Amino acid sequence: MVEKMPNTGRAAVFPAPNAPFSIQEFPLREPRSDEVLVRVSMATICRSDLHSYQGLRPTPCPGILGHEIIGRIVALGSEIPCDLRGDPLEPGDRVTWTEYFYSGNCYHRDVLDMPQKCPGVQKYGHESALQEPHLLGGFADYCYIQPGTGILRLPEELSDEEATPLNCGVATMVAVTETAHITLGSTVVVQGLGLLGLYGAAMAKARGARLVIGIDPVAPRRNLAGQFGVDVVLDPRAAPHRLEDRIMSLCRPDGADAVIEVTGIPEVIPVGLGLLRTGGRYILAGVVNPGAMITIDANQILRRCLTLSGVHNYHPRHLLQALDFVVANRERFPFRNLVDGKYPLERIQDAFEDAAERRVLRAAIVPF
Ligand SMILES: [Zn+2]
Repeated sequence: MVEKMPNTGRAAVFPAPNAPFSIQEFPLREPRSDEVLVRVSMATICRSDLHSYQGLRPTPCPGILGHEIIGRIVALGSEIPCDLRGDPLEPGDRVTWTEYFYSGNCYHRDVLDMPQKCPGVQKYGHESALQEPHLLGGFADYCYIQPGTGILRLPEELSDEEATPLNCGVATMVAVTETAHITLGSTVVVQGLGLLGLYGAAMAKARGARLVIGIDPVAPRRNLAGQFGVDVVLDPRAAPHRLEDRIMSLCRPDGADAVIEVTGIPEVIPVGLGLLRTGGRYILAGVVNPGAMITIDANQILRRCLTLSGVHNYHPRHLLQALDFVVANRERFPFRNLVDGKYPLERIQDAFEDAAERRVLRAAIVPF
């Protein structure tokens, strides 16, 4: 469906932390030769959108939040003939794209192969709405995809609910499970069963894990976890030694091969390190805000030959893998059910409240 471009598009403007959103109109223009204009199909509220809204992470104001986005191409510049895979792009195509963009030479990209960590990298949903082209966030009718973004065409069989979290939560968990070296027969503990934890569990199974243990204090999440490859669910409010004894008895003889932190709670880190076997890997992916101070016995890391790794953002290849993983496993795991609340743009305030109160697992804004 190719459509005509109107003169303006709406966006939910984030004026200041904890202040009500206001719906405002912004001018629309033809995309430049290195841009793509998309009409937003769906944008989901990620935990980092909530952190921005609550003032826990610095975000320019006024801004347009939302970086887990998909949309249909309205018009595209002549310099963007195809997507990351080399498939041609045309108006009407439904696409996802990397949550970040950076153009120009960069040591981190060109030498370290870490484009996601280029100094000055910009992120959708984290830019000022005052500067042209204004529309760089998902909670809006339209978005301008910028130069230096990896774009990927979406197969039509994938629902919007399955496709929208790909470019943040799902691609990040591809990077996490890769860093965790999960392989045939691995035992994996996932601390936190939100959207990231559930995708991580499903990927661990797809990578060949023999046992996935999930830990979360929220009962509805524990109840859902079995559908996403979690074999054993545990409540962290149980006595610490009982939790540890149970996991050690399941991961004989020495503990888990990998532990993944997707809670955002620093206090779980020493607990998780204690669950690893000698030579095991601990991956941090949830403690994304500064000030996550903990006390750990570094001697235990040394003596037990543990690896502690952080994962933040992802390489463009992880977005391709995320898409291919979901396409290949969408019958095995009910990913479509994870986006469990849909709201029109005018109801974004309700959506943020429901997400903050964990009344929904992933709230989605559907502007049209
Ligand atoms: Zn996110």
